Amino acid sequence: MDKPRVFVSRVIPEGGLELVHQACEAEVWPEEQPPPREKLLEKVRGVDGLLCLLTDKIDGELMDAAGPALKVISNFAVGYDNIDVPAATMRGIPVGNTPGVLTDTTADMAFALLMAAARRIAEGAEYVKADRWRTWGPKLLLGYDVHGATLGIIGMGRIGQAVARRATGFDMRVIYFDPYCDPDKAPFVDVGLRCELDDLLAESDFVSLHVPLAEDTYRLINAETLSRMKPTAVLVNTSRGPVVDSDALFDALEAGQIAYAALDVTDPEPLPGDHKLLTLSNCLVVPHIASASHATRTRMAVMAAENLLAGLRGERLPNCVNPEVFEGG
Ligand code: NAD
Repeated sequence: MDKPRVFVSRVIPEGGLELVHQACEAEVWPEEQPPPREKLLEKVRGVDGLLCLLTDKIDGELMDAAGPALKVISNFAVGYDNIDVPAATMRGIPVGNTPGVLTDTTADMAFALLMAAARRIAEGAEYVKADRWRTWGPKLLLGYDVHGATLGIIGMGRIGQAVARRATGFDMRVIYFDPYCDPDKAPFVDVGLRCELDDLLAESDFVSLHVPLAEDTYRLINAETLSRMKPTAVLVNTSRGPVVDSDALFDALEAGQIAYAALDVTDPEPLPGDHKLLTLSNCLVVPHIASASHATRTRMAVMAAENLLAGLRGERLPNCVNPEVFEGG
């Protein structure tokens, strides 16, 4: 029997790619940059399965370009805002993602950014590299204490909770805003105090974002919400870039309305080297690497491959964001 045809939109870690190659006739996009839209539309034509990345826009047009053979879309990410899930559901196509396996790695990065911002690690490193270190200075690069500070977590899901667990080890007080979680259910009761967004913004020394990108989280952090934060507050974003209004963030950082921002994700993304946020000494930006550990990226690749292969066999995906496609089937 012929193997199913699939398109893999970037070279993913070997552990996952091997599984795909064993079971499929796979074309893998070999370049470092994602396939341009036109190429992607061309490459998916007639495929049975698609393994894609958060840099690929997967909409109804693309699903139609693939055609009726398309049985599964497997995203190499836990977030799936790059995929028009209702369009996939309408066409009966299951969409897979990679939850859980990147939770702790992403939480580690959120905490690393929080610490780096609080203690001005990037600025300190730049200072030494620029050969400006002449003496021990009583007021040199003063930052903010992490221990004893209040951490406000927006979005208390898997990653938010993992960040909260780290914060308790640093003797932080944790508060959170998440209108969709049940505060009476463990582990929420153990890791922080639920509050309203206004209170979180007013009370937090550190605000860390862990929401999915959706209509109600788009630019959740804007001129108005930034104005409610402390002038000493640090904003950490490891969720998705458009959750923060970049222009408003620039204004707030420049005016000293908040003290610091540490961003793994940006809007636009990638952030051009001449973007105004990069001119600020109180803004630390890293290139969307929160889940980028060797082990985690391999686990994500295996999980994405397993979702793909299950979909090709017509089975339920181990991790499916639209399981309703299997109902009644
Ligand atoms: P999750 O679904 O477990 O948690 C998301 C939480 O956000 C849920 O508890 C949900 O109730 C809450 N939420 C939704 N809308 C909200 C709103 N308007 N206000 C407050 N809370 C709201 O997801 P997760 O695994 O914790 O991942 C969270 C997000 O982090 C992903 O959707 C993804 O976009 C992002 N992420 C980024 C990276 C990275 O590399 N930077 C890595 C992993 C995940």
